[in-house]
Amino acid sequence: MSDVLQVEDLRVRYHTLAGPVRAVEGVTFSLKKGERLGLVGESGSGKSTTVLALLRMLKPPARIEAGRVLLDGEDLLQLSEEEMRQARFAKISLIPQGAMNSLNPVMRIKAQLLDTLQYHRQQNGHATRGEMLDHIHYLLESVGLNPAVADMYPHELSGGMKQRVCIAMGISLQPRVILADEPTSALDVVVQRQVMETLGKVQEAIDASLILVGHDMGLMAQFVNTIGVMYAGKLVEVGPVDDMFEEPLHPYTQMLIASLPSLEGKGVFKGIPGITPSLLNPPPGCAFHPRCPKVMDQCRAIVPTLQEVRPGRWVSCLLY
Ligand code: SF4
Repeated sequence: MSDVLQVEDLRVRYHTLAGPVRAVEGVTFSLKKGERLGLVGESGSGKSTTVLALLRMLKPPARIEAGRVLLDGEDLLQLSEEEMRQARFAKISLIPQGAMNSLNPVMRIKAQLLDTLQYHRQQNGHATRGEMLDHIHYLLESVGLNPAVADMYPHELSGGMKQRVCIAMGISLQPRVILADEPTSALDVVVQRQVMETLGKVQEAIDASLILVGHDMGLMAQFVNTIGVMYAGKLVEVGPVDDMFEEPLHPYTQMLIASLPSLEGKGVFKGIPGITPSLLNPPPGCAFHPRCPKVMDQCRAIVPTLQEVRPGRWVSCLLY
């Protein structure tokens, strides 16, 4: 399979009055056609900033300082604002966190979907309003909603229905890459499962690649092919999901997986001691060293880099 998306040495900083916050530091990964990559890590690890940087949707004081985002060989970071607007939805789309806040409360669902289709009229091949409305009904059905939802306002829908509308919007122009930023975080577990099944189904139907951002390792285990673990703005481990769960290599990944509740554990929860470091002033050496149970002297001085330590297994740790 060929790479659809290649992200190379992406760096994002938030320029605050206290100084630059290194939110994303040299993130590099690739995504194959049809692949599902899960980006996991604690809050503030840089997952959502990475995704928003791919779409060039970051607002000041955030700034993309360096890197390349190659989508089918075209660097999105080099496009003009207008070219980037054309690329959103048509080539790369976002299913946002919290559908409640991302839909316009005073517009019917139909009008919100029409907005996107009309802007991209040439790319979607539906020239007339009637054709676009037919497409909207088709989209709503494909995410498991009754086409009558098109005439409703967001407040008339449940959380799961609103998230399905966001999925419909995300796939409306059959993008090559779908970015889903914690798409089910506000939903109960039953609805969460149904929404994820729908997302998986429509992603396969349009043969898109997908990046799922989240911190639920259990959900990742069921849904993605590859996992990328982020810590303090960097990718610290990347590998196939089954291998990662069977034998996590980075101490942080080991602790993340050990913190998953298990039936044998009988209600005992294991957290990860310590707190995530300040990205304004990250610790020297390996950023995980203040919390790492396997810390060595050199970890306090040497910054590890992401290396392929086994075929398909990439780890950033001085143990390897
Ligand atoms: Fe732990 Fe050292 Fe590896 Fe960092 S480099 S994860 S501190 S062992």
